Formats: sequence, C-alpha cells, structure tokens
Amino acid sequence: KERQVQSEKVYNTQCPYCSVQCQMQLIEQRSVTRKTYKTVGKDNPTSKGRLCVKGMNAHQHALHKDRITQPLVKIDGEFIPVSWKEALECIRENVTNIQKEDGYNAMSVYGSASITNEEAYLMGKFARVALKTKYIDYNGRLCMSSAASAASAVFGMDRGLTNSIEEIPYAETIVLAGTNIAECQPTIMHYFEQAKENGAFIVAVDPRETATTRMADLHIKIKPGTDAAFANGLLKVIIDNDWIDRSFIEEKSIGFEDVKEYVASLELEDISAQTDVPVKEIRRVALSLGEKETGMIFTARGVEQQTDGSMAVRNLLNILIATGKLGKPSCGYGAITGQSNGQGAREHGQKADQLPGYRSIENEEHRAHISNFWGIAEKDLPRKGASAFEMIEKVDQREITGMFLLCSNPVVSNPNARFVKQALQKLKFLVAVDLFKSETAQLADVILPTSSYLEDEGTMTNLEGRVTLREASKKVPGEARHDWEIICDVAKSLGKEEYFSFSSAEEVFNELREASRGGIADYYGMTYERLRKKQGILWPCPSLDHGGAARIFEDSFAHADGRAKMTVVPSEPVVKKEETCEKYPLYLTTGRVMAHYLTGVQTRKSSALTAREFESFLEIHPQTAQQYHIRNGELVRIESRRGGIVVRSKCTETIRQDTVFVPFHWDEKQNVNRLVAEDLDPNCRMPGFKVSAVKVAPYDIN
Ligand code: SF4
Repeated sequence: KERQVQSEKVYNTQCPYCSVQCQMQLIEQRSVTRKTYKTVGKDNPTSKGRLCVKGMNAHQHALHKDRITQPLVKIDGEFIPVSWKEALECIRENVTNIQKEDGYNAMSVYGSASITNEEAYLMGKFARVALKTKYIDYNGRLCMSSAASAASAVFGMDRGLTNSIEEIPYAETIVLAGTNIAECQPTIMHYFEQAKENGAFIVAVDPRETATTRMADLHIKIKPGTDAAFANGLLKVIIDNDWIDRSFIEEKSIGFEDVKEYVASLELEDISAQTDVPVKEIRRVALSLGEKETGMIFTARGVEQQTDGSMAVRNLLNILIATGKLGKPSCGYGAITGQSNGQGAREHGQKADQLPGYRSIENEEHRAHISNFWGIAEKDLPRKGASAFEMIEKVDQREITGMFLLCSNPVVSNPNARFVKQALQKLKFLVAVDLFKSETAQLADVILPTSSYLEDEGTMTNLEGRVTLREASKKVPGEARHDWEIICDVAKSLGKEEYFSFSSAEEVFNELREASRGGIADYYGMTYERLRKKQGILWPCPSLDHGGAARIFEDSFAHADGRAKMTVVPSEPVVKKEETCEKYPLYLTTGRVMAHYLTGVQTRKSSALTAREFESFLEIHPQTAQQYHIRNGELVRIESRRGGIVVRSKCTETIRQDTVFVPFHWDEKQNVNRLVAEDLDPNCRMPGFKVSAVKVAPYDIN
C-alpha cells in the first residue's frame, strides 16, 4: 500500500545525448514512501518513439546529487559557494584586467555542440560583441568539422542528411563508412534494417566488427587510415567500367576529368595492398554503387577523425557525383553527427570561421550584414581566430590567458590530453559553465551552475537537419541558471546589456531567425509555435509558409554556379599519419560504446549506464594478445609517443590483428586521448583521433 502511486507528473523532453534527438517523457511517480522515475519514448518523425539505453537513463544524471546548484569560486584551491552577484563581479574584474593587460584577444570562448541553437548563437555574439575577441571555437571541431568542410566544399552547403531519413529504406546500395550506428545512434538503425529487408546491399567499412557491420552484407575490414585510398579504388572501378552518369556529371558538376585522370594512374592491386581490402571486395562495392539506380553513402567519425578526414569524405562524395546519386529519391549523403546538436551548433556562429546563418567571417558581404544586424561597426567585428586545439596551443604559448568554457571537457576530449591539462593550468582565469565538476571544471577559477536537458528550453537540430523544440517543464535546481541566461548575465556584467537583454529562449530564437535570414542555414520561417505543431522542420525554411526542405540539391547545388565540385583526392594524405614501427607496432583506433556519451561527464553519473560499462578497456585480437603476453581481463599498459594509460584487456577476434581499440569516455588515468597525436587536418583542423601507433604490455602493479 505504501508503494501505491499517489500522484504522477509527466515532463516532455528530448534526449540530451546523440544527434537523433529522440523525443521522450520523464514520468515522476510519488507514493507515500518514495519518488520514482522512468523515461519512455514519445512518437516523433525521426525515432518514432524508440529510445536506447542512454535516453532511458538520462534522468539519472539530471537528478544526481552531485549537480552543482550554486556558483563556486576557487579560493586557496577550494571551491567556495558564492552568490551570483559575487561570481559575476569576480568574472567582470578578471576579464577586464586580462583584456587591459593582454588585449581583447587574450580572452577566449570554448563552446559545445551539446547546447541549444539559441545558446550557440549567443556564444558567437558573446565572443565577438561582448568580449571583442576573435578566439572562439567549440568541441564540435573534434567531431564533425571534416564532414562539414567536405560538404561545404563539394555542395556549397552542409546539412547532415541531403535527404529525409524516410528515404533510407528505399536505397538499393548503402555504404556506411566509419559509422557504428547500431551503438551510437541505435534508434535510427531500423531505417537500415528496413532497407535490408527491401533487398538493399549494405556495406560497412570499419577496422572492427561491430553490431553495425554484423547487419551489413559486406564488412570491409579496412586498415585504419586508408579510407581515401579505398574511395579511389571504388572510383577507379566505376569510371573504368563506365558506370557513371554522364549527363549528371556534365550538367551538375565540375572537376570530373581531373579525377578520372588521377584514378586512371592508380593500380587496383596497389590500392588493395594499401587498404588491405581484397580487389574483389572493391569491385563488388563499386559494381553495386555503379549499377543500381539508387544509393546512399553515410560517414561518421571513423572516416572523419583523421588528418585527411575532410578529403576522405570528399572522395566518397566524388563517387555520388560520378554516379549521379544526389538530389533524387534515396540517392544522397549523410554525415551521422555524434553530439546532440552537432548540426545546429555549427550553423549559428560558434565556430572560429563562422557567423550566424552559416555565413563566413572572412566574407566582406557577410561581415557587413551581421555587424549591421548586431548594431556594431564592421571594423569592430573580429576576424577568424583559431580552432579548438589551436586555441589551447595559444594558451600554452600565453597568447590566450583567459577562457570562458561552456559545457565542454577539453582536458579529456582533446588529443595529447596531458598537454591540454598542463596548458589550461597556465590560464590566468578560467570560467566553466557545467552541471558537474568535470575534469576541466576542476581547473576553473569560477564554476557557474547550469540547467540540464530537463530544464533548458530551446531548439536542437538533429542529424537530418530537422530543427526540433525541446520543451522544459522542470524547474532548475537550486540557483542554477539556463546557459542562455548565464551568457547574457556575464555579457551584461561586462556592460553589454543593450546587446543581450533577452528574457526567454524564444526571444533569443527570434533574433537567431532574423540573423540567419538569407544565409545558407535559413531558419527564418520557423517559430516555436510552428516547431511545436510540426514536431520539427528541416532547414532551410526561409518563410513562415515554407514547410522545410526534405530533400536538397534536386535542381542545383548551393555554389554560385549551381554545380557540385569534384576534386582529386590523393591516396596518400598530405599530413602523414603515424605509421607503426618496431617500437610502436600496433595501430590504435578509438570510439564509443553504447552506454556512454562523449567524455562521460553525464553518463558516468548514471548508475544504470556505469553498471553496463564501468571502466575503459582495450579490444585486442587473441593472437596479438598472445604475442604480447596479454591475458584476457588483465590490466594492460598502452603507450604511444605521448605517454601511457592502463586499461583492462578484452580479447576478441572482431578486431584486426594489427589494430587495438579503446573507447574515449573515461577520465584522465584511462583517457585514451592522452595517446593521440596533435596533428590536424589542414582543411578543417580535425585531430587524427582514429590512427595512432602504440605498444602494449601487461601492466605490472608492482
Ligand atoms: Fe535516442 Fe540517441 Fe538518446 Fe539513444 S542516445 S535515446 S538514440 S537520442
């Protein structure tokens, strides 16, 4: 009787984790003796009411007792609770002093792709208008910058999926390159399963066997780091056999002849040796892409997080152009973004090189438009700064001495993570906005408590490019505030009230809509009311009677001449990847597990999720393990040129013998990013997370 439900409250929300943005409800039930929670899926156009284990347990971190609920200021190494007034005064004083002593650009802003569109917009405006600094970038740089840069270069526009997700089941060929959808975005897996039931030929390219590769008809167990070469092999077979769409190439693209000439100079056997993919498998994939009427290619971090990631993606896009598989039903490209707002967070000016509406900060017309919109002189609008990791290098060089960090954990997420921690410790002043005392927040001088997904209203743009409205029906705990409020409060404390006098997320969205008007990512036609009614709208949506764009590039591409740009992609990258050698004989690749998200700040607080995966691990082939005297389940030291970590071994035949895998969700001592080199993709500044050279040995506790 004591346990009988006496009252029930339902909170409508969206999952805070991956880019599918499943809609869901948190149900709070009260009985005489206790309060219990459960999360259930809610019908929506993308995930159709499905949830994965992360979504089902998201409330565990939001309701966690370790949430920060009051501003904290570090005094003599201890965090002391203070009032908002005191915290904001501390920030004002330190920021003013830093900028007086070291210049405007000494302050930097490090943002996130897990925040709402409204907050991403405000971050860009805050950096350029309130701080007048050119140094702003965000953690999405480490996640999606290769795909974004490739799509922008090839199509003139970067939207996650070129087609509505509903078209996937009708594609006859599907290539999943470096994407483990079954574990990372499980609730869209059914689209691919339906395609398979409909007879599609599904190819998964991955050095490891995963739940996704097991669903595929063909698993290409590629040698890490050779995706661009593999795509050249496919192009060569397609062009040699004339499986191209000549009229599409002639009418809608440029650059084909150069690509044709380059791949003609390659030998398929050499590509096979370089990639470790048998010639017959290259031919089989090429045949399917060339012969079938419809086909789609999807990429994710496996291809993208490499020092030639942007070019590898471009080469896969070359295939779609050569075969005319764009702008038609079930023909297109999809970058499966990782973070919850991986798409939207890159559209509104939070990137080093961008202004709202996906405008360029170096384009004079765009600069004039946005400075005029913000009411500042164009000469006062800072120019392009530096990418996320490069900002940290500037901290190390003491060019940047202050940082405002929002919902991000760079100490764990960046390459050469030990260096990153040492660099951030050199800052004169660090403000962290977070839910918890993350590994990076612990280094801060001030921590400002923010709202979780349950409390924070705003729009998110999912992996399709669908803008959804996340409702917030729960109150923030204690004195925590919304991210958008915090950004505005700090800006106001710096004397910029006139630019940041918003009283709701909706007001910020309405300014964002106007700012985006006429830009590539045009949100003007969306309002909170429309988003509520339609359960999301696919951008671009330029007018209030526009229904959103389900399929893009049907008539032309977004470049001024309307054509897609093919380009030669060398099989050998410009920035050399780490090769294995006698001292470091194995390739290390990194990735996710289903139960955790990013650096684990939120998911490691969930008892249900940590029960599934409570520590990191090393996936290693049994024969490789035997060669290095490693037994299953024992502690192993993994070492690269940057240092070492210790994790437990998991022997499995699902991985290549020359490769080991470690997930990246754990903190310092188990943080695999300590091993990763800081080399960056020259086009988009993406670090090469997916290929490092390492050695492994049993760990001697003594
Ligand atoms: Fe949906 Fe992704 Fe959340 Fe899982 S993690 S419930 S797939 S949004």
